[in-house]
Amino acid sequence: MDAEKNGKKIWQKIGWGLRRRCPHCGIGKLFRGYLTVEAICPQCHADNGKFPSDDAAPYFTLLVVGHIMVPALLEIGRIFPDLSVFWQLLIFLPLTAILTLALLPVVKGGVIAVAAHFGVKRAPLA
Ligand SMILES: [Zn+2]
Repeated sequence: MDAEKNGKKIWQKIGWGLRRRCPHCGIGKLFRGYLTVEAICPQCHADNGKFPSDDAAPYFTLLVVGHIMVPALLEIGRIFPDLSVFWQLLIFLPLTAILTLALLPVVKGGVIAVAAHFGVKRAPLA
């Protein structure tokens, strides 16, 4: 029963994080600007600045983007076999950049929510 409740809670927190909301209350904004974490939630005053995302957010972002863009690139190459490399680059480089930049804050919110749920905290500075 407790594990089931805990399971529901983590998915709720991940959902809030993916919507770039505070993983504790789901109301306050998690970010100030594009990727800067709002250290203290303006709604519930939780300390969200202590939860790291570090390289996990870019890693998962690129994992998702790669799984979307590589099959799309292969499919375009199959459908339009005469499409030159120049045009493929002209189409797919901006699409990849836009998708990556759009997903990065979303994924970072999810990573911070997972860190908050499991109590993973940034190591104190020496
Ligand atoms: Zn909050």
